[in-house]
Amino acid sequence: MRGKVTLYVSPTGGPSPGSSPLPKWAPWGGWCLYARTRLGYLFYQRQVKKARERYPHGHSAPQPCRFPGVKILPIPVLSNNYSYLVIDTGSGRAAVVDPSDPLAVQAAIEEEGVMLEAIFCTHKHWDHSGGNAALHQRHSSCKVYGILHPTSHPKVSVGCLTFEALATPGHTVGHMVYVLDGGPFGGPPCLFSGDLLFLAGCGRLFEGSPETMLASLDVAVGLGEDTLLWPGHEYALECLTFASLLELDNPALEQKLRWVTQQRQEKRSTCPSTLGEEQSYNPFLRTHQPELQAALGMRRDGGEHPDAFRARVLKEVRRRKDLYKAT
Ligand SMILES: [Zn+2]
Repeated sequence: MRGKVTLYVSPTGGPSPGSSPLPKWAPWGGWCLYARTRLGYLFYQRQVKKARERYPHGHSAPQPCRFPGVKILPIPVLSNNYSYLVIDTGSGRAAVVDPSDPLAVQAAIEEEGVMLEAIFCTHKHWDHSGGNAALHQRHSSCKVYGILHPTSHPKVSVGCLTFEALATPGHTVGHMVYVLDGGPFGGPPCLFSGDLLFLAGCGRLFEGSPETMLASLDVAVGLGEDTLLWPGHEYALECLTFASLLELDNPALEQKLRWVTQQRQEKRSTCPSTLGEEQSYNPFLRTHQPELQAALGMRRDGGEHPDAFRARVLKEVRRRKDLYKAT
């Protein structure tokens, strides 16, 4: 079942406070400060500056994806985030997803010569929302979309393109994903997943239960196997390596890991994958698979609802992933 949402259109384009991923190295302590405060915003700004110095051309080589009438341009920002410029090539109108580094996104807008009509914000964390205000200031006629209340089913048009916003809580309470309808250009749907779903991974459960995250991941899977996944971070190598330690005998996983390893050696982006592929190796989408359950040593209790069991499996995979990253 799809989450129902009403989009919040910000009159000012101002970002809501927040941040991600967990900055363990923050000298002044945990992510709550980073997520909620002015101090967090200053920290984010410093990270943007440092990333620009460290990766003057971005952390990965962007590879544009084209369909008749549409161009999707991943923009590598910060140390592992992606913003996406989505262009209706016929009209030159464009939307951007999570423009965390407004300078990098503005450069892409100018290079492409397009008019920015919409900013789609997946969630409040600064490394996704922090560029909204600056970019909106430059493009005052564009609208900034994000979450407010779960009541209706909004769609947003940008030129010939149609985006649908879906509520996908779990990583944060107000997390949203955006789905570009592939119908008008004869292509697959495109899912801009923010920190809900990564290649072989999912976002940390900062503000949601495993049950909530499971339901949100099911919303994504419901979009169909041919859907292209455009995630908020370049985490593929780390996530796949972790997954390969869980499922030791999964040919699809091994094959993807080989490909991703090579891509990353050449600093190439690993997106997009498809949701069909993801279901063959992403442990967070495989909670129903006996192979994964066995690998975790988990069994469904008598009388336990299958979804309750899947949520338990998800919780365990997430716990192990958090430990894996901490080491
Ligand atoms: Zn986040």
